[in-house]
Amino acid sequence: MGAYQDFYEQSLSHRDAFWTREAARIDWVKPFRQVCDFSNPPFAKWFVGGETNLCYNAVDRHLATRAEQNALTWISSEVELTRAFTYRDLFNEVNRFAAILKSLGVGKGDRVLIYMPMIPEAVFAMLATVRIGAIHSVVFGGFAAASLAARIDDAEPKVLITADAGSRGGKIIPLKPLTDESIALAKHPPKHVVIVNRGLDRDMKTLPGRDMDYLALCRRHEGEIVPCEWVESSHPSYILYTSGTTGKPKGVQRDTGGYAVALAASMPNIFDTKPGETYFCTSDIGWVVGHSYIIYAPLINGSTTIMYDGLPIRPDAGIWWKIVQDYKVSTMFSSPTAIRVLKKQDPAWLKKFDVSSLRYLFLAGEPLDQPTSDWIEKGLGVKVIDNYWQTESGWPILSAQPGIEATPRKLGSPSFASYGYKMKLKHEETGKPVGANEKGVLCIEAPLPPGCMSTIWRDDARFVKTYFSSFKDEQVYTTFDWATRDSDGYYFIMGRTDDVINVAGHRLGTREIEEAIQAHANIAEVAVVGVADALKGQVPMAFAVVKDASKVATPELQAAHEKEIMATVDKELGAIGRPARVHFVTLLPKTRSGKLLRRSIQALCEKRDPGDLTTIEDPAALEQVRAAVA
Ligand code: ATP
Ligand code: MG
Repeated sequence: MGAYQDFYEQSLSHRDAFWTREAARIDWVKPFRQVCDFSNPPFAKWFVGGETNLCYNAVDRHLATRAEQNALTWISSEVELTRAFTYRDLFNEVNRFAAILKSLGVGKGDRVLIYMPMIPEAVFAMLATVRIGAIHSVVFGGFAAASLAARIDDAEPKVLITADAGSRGGKIIPLKPLTDESIALAKHPPKHVVIVNRGLDRDMKTLPGRDMDYLALCRRHEGEIVPCEWVESSHPSYILYTSGTTGKPKGVQRDTGGYAVALAASMPNIFDTKPGETYFCTSDIGWVVGHSYIIYAPLINGSTTIMYDGLPIRPDAGIWWKIVQDYKVSTMFSSPTAIRVLKKQDPAWLKKFDVSSLRYLFLAGEPLDQPTSDWIEKGLGVKVIDNYWQTESGWPILSAQPGIEATPRKLGSPSFASYGYKMKLKHEETGKPVGANEKGVLCIEAPLPPGCMSTIWRDDARFVKTYFSSFKDEQVYTTFDWATRDSDGYYFIMGRTDDVINVAGHRLGTREIEEAIQAHANIAEVAVVGVADALKGQVPMAFAVVKDASKVATPELQAAHEKEIMATVDKELGAIGRPARVHFVTLLPKTRSGKLLRRSIQALCEKRDPGDLTTIEDPAALEQVRAAVA
């Protein structure tokens, strides 16, 4: 690990020189005078005094060299449309949208809330917002009115941008009624609502004066050019709420300069993707992965980004690989959850298309179990790279960095720290560093590197309290994830600190038990939670989705299958990790971003209230859990 080790050490021991070099990857209208101001820990300001603009770096600066190259290719299997925008087209769209926002009174520092389906206008809206120095807050288009209202009240946007409707699995999902409902609930409603009317919801109602039709506004501002608002590096670019897997979402605030540099650096160093190449991230613009890797990073890099509106299995399970073939995608970014969905389909789909252009499949968001990683890597013949990060970080914290060095990968591990991240594994009580293969809380020494959150929106105190107050011995950032590091320096994420199961005094990560269960050939997905037990403190309880349902068709078959799975756990992990029960379900409760809601499962197992469910994907999944444990 020569080159990686060297690069990594440079980033810490010669921090300022390192980031000065990386900062040259973006355009500054005014150079920064200080690389990092850490005079008020744990708050860090990067590239102090430098002036730049996120939209300028993503769009304008490419016009000289790649105006006719596609910047954004939008493919919708929902409405069966494809639209491509060159960098020049994107420039025009974004300028017109910026003119619209200005005409509605949006200026520097104002917030714009974007509640939209996966359509190109959402990208234009985001870029237009940062172009004029305003701050966007994108709320995932699948959230219900109450969730949206809470985010409206937190961000207090001047303008809300939405569409008449989205579509999911062929079903029209009206957004405008939810917008109206949320505005009625909100204490600080926006003055104007801009609606991209796609003609999907013919019953849409509008409120004259407040609601504005996007097309009409476009006609009024056709051809207008709005100069970029140059902002100081630490000027906020956006607010984004965390997934809410562990409770009330936190409004992550991101800066401008540090974020642009972090993303610009990640494309060559981590994603090994060149300008002009095609990048396909399957996330949603409502999540951090979508912000960073559908929009900003590929565009800052001068790549072509693919935005896909639809399910991975519709019209069939080959759709993603057909896109890779047709658009010669070189790099893909997806999630383990999505791959597990594909794993339930015929593996022949993986071989049907020519995916020889694809060099990497990056996966993040949830632990990537070995069987799933193996299945997709062998099936496609493409390198799978597990990377670990958070809404808070904005870019990978742990990852192989093939642009620097093709280091060997280890199954089940997101490899090691990205440059700039000084990691620590601390004993959860003593705070002392743990040894090789010992479990500890994954922490990052401050200052957090460029691109990471600056604070919690309007709540500096909550930022310090939430992230930097877990240990008495020092002020470090805690990820709230449990991990081990082996003697080669590879990290293994064991689950969230508050998901840890305490069985008769032994501390087990939910991930460890889930991994052991996944080793059984018929398991598609599984969730394990710790349930209170009078005798043992806690016992693990498993909820499994099987690939071949005929194996659990009757109670007798289920009992036999449960035994088999327990035997697998005994073999893989030892009897200590054996779940008290394995319940078979067809659906697991997940957040809209595809993360397991272990908390709610646990609550149901303990006959408690499942808690805040505003981010749940499908409430029917909870009913299955409720029925299983009844
Ligand atoms: P909240 O903080 O609101 O509870 P959340 O933590 O689910 O929500 P995100 O920021 O979207 O919100 O998710 C980050 C978390 O996802 C990480 O802290 C970690 O638990 C998990 N995660 C992400 N990538 C990986 C990975 N490669 N391996 C294991 N876990 C991962
Ligand atoms: Mg989190």
